Amino acid sequence: MSFTLHGIAVSSGIAIAYAHLLSHTSLEVAHYVLPKRFISDEIVRFDVALQATRNEFSSLRSNRPSYAAAEFDAFLELHQMILDDPLLSVGPREMVEREHCNIEWAIKVQTDALVAQFDEFEDAYLRERQTDVKQVAARLLKQLSGQPGHQPAAARRDVETILVAHDLSPADLIQFRPQQYAAFITDVGSATSHTAIVARSLNTPCVVGLHHARELIREDDLLILDGEQGVLIVNPDKAILAEYKLLQSEWELERKKLKRLRTARANTLDGAIIELHANIEKPEDIIEAKENGATGVGLFRSEFLFLGRDQLPDEEEQFEAYRAAASGMKGHPVTIRTFDLGADKQIKGVERVANNPALGLRAIRLCLAEPQLFRTQLRALLRATHYGDVKILIPMLSCVSELNQTLQFIARTKQSLDDEGIPYDREVKIGGMIEIPAAALSLNVFARQLDFLSIGTNDLIQYTLAIDRTDEEVAHLYDPLHPAVLYLLSHVISTCNKLDVPISVCGEMAGELAYTRLLLGMGLRQFSMFSAQVPSIKQRVLTTSLPEIAALTQKILRSDDPLKIRELLYKLNA
Ligand code: PEP
Ligand code: MG
Repeated sequence: MSFTLHGIAVSSGIAIAYAHLLSHTSLEVAHYVLPKRFISDEIVRFDVALQATRNEFSSLRSNRPSYAAAEFDAFLELHQMILDDPLLSVGPREMVEREHCNIEWAIKVQTDALVAQFDEFEDAYLRERQTDVKQVAARLLKQLSGQPGHQPAAARRDVETILVAHDLSPADLIQFRPQQYAAFITDVGSATSHTAIVARSLNTPCVVGLHHARELIREDDLLILDGEQGVLIVNPDKAILAEYKLLQSEWELERKKLKRLRTARANTLDGAIIELHANIEKPEDIIEAKENGATGVGLFRSEFLFLGRDQLPDEEEQFEAYRAAASGMKGHPVTIRTFDLGADKQIKGVERVANNPALGLRAIRLCLAEPQLFRTQLRALLRATHYGDVKILIPMLSCVSELNQTLQFIARTKQSLDDEGIPYDREVKIGGMIEIPAAALSLNVFARQLDFLSIGTNDLIQYTLAIDRTDEEVAHLYDPLHPAVLYLLSHVISTCNKLDVPISVCGEMAGELAYTRLLLGMGLRQFSMFSAQVPSIKQRVLTTSLPEIAALTQKILRSDDPLKIRELLYKLNA
């Protein structure tokens, strides 16, 4: 019987292959009481399983494959921390001693207690970490069942398969990758889950949130997965299969063609030069940026060097990371953002609890409140300017006093390097992110004092529309085409162009094909995005004529009717 399921599209591409069901470690385990003489053996079973799970994490960390996303270390660190939480590492043992129950039951009870703690968080991102707790508990239970990790069926290696699971942790995905699954699908998950982030970075089609897929699909069912649309077709008929085979070969051909554009310049049909840069999180990411033809790094999110660790990186470690990125890009610009911590990116020892963390001590506000941390980073950044075309980018500026304080910090740090005779680029360019409406509306202040500006659309949209970007409940209201957002974007881009201040967009909008022509029409000439998107955006640029899109873009900007805006955008992209 053929049927179709719809889920959340997480990683694009079309896969046609047979289903391979992954055995699902349920947290529903039996509960029984053990005779007193078996208690010590039960505790030994637990200790062995706990140690084996720890070893599994350590070996995953030390053998992190090159294709794994930079964030992978942070995910593993989080899972290790969950495993070491006393509720999981000590609680089950105590419960067995106290209640003489089997260890699996004790783990289940302790996991439920830990999940309940996460459930209390108001922050959607933190609430979602209960998935990580369940994944860690499942790993521990697998060890106890004598089947560590997830074992792909060896006999199936001759045919391509799509892995069908109730849930997958980022660590599972990394382990499965060498098995060359054609795609991954899961019952649970959301677009912001860690699993989604890793699947995207592995470039493997993936759809999550398919609810009962694992129950409805049988081993060896033929599946079509459209990772772009979030559609799964089970046992398709011949006509559908033929249609998707065609779509799949077109998609593959397209990707091959796009790869050939790697060294081509991104010029519009009428000859305007467009710069396509990459967003990176760790220096290693520049390999992928170069492979995809990025001509610079438009946003190095330096806070990823600080996440998921006990000890913060010192000046030397930061300097090495920034220098590696700078020299790796071989003279191309590398724009490094000072750390944007706070809100959903907390670090140990500097946590701030606030009612509205996104409106609290975040990004430059936190830098100015933690002068020692900021000074250390600025020294490392300035020293790295000696080794390449490094620019410094300040996140989340909102007013002139913040800007002045920041510039004074930089001036003082330069002075201290001068005093010590340490070389750096005296002409280093300092830029600011425009991601708060107040900054967009008082742009001249920032444009006058800074060398360049970069629009962080992810936050600009969040703050303009008052929508928490991490909250699934209001995700449907997050609208880059809201007339207010379009007004701010166009205002910032045109003002910067008039004042001759370089302007780029480094939020997700820069990597979305639907908005490329609209941004070009507004006058944007520099885009920075997730590396894998560079070839597609380049192709769109190559097929765009600026004079031809001018009138339609103006019509979109004059409209305040959401439907009309969408209709016009469709025409613009036709
Ligand atoms: C943005 O806000 O658009 C941006 C690029 O910064 P981040 O997503 O890291 O907040
Ligand atoms: Mg931002």
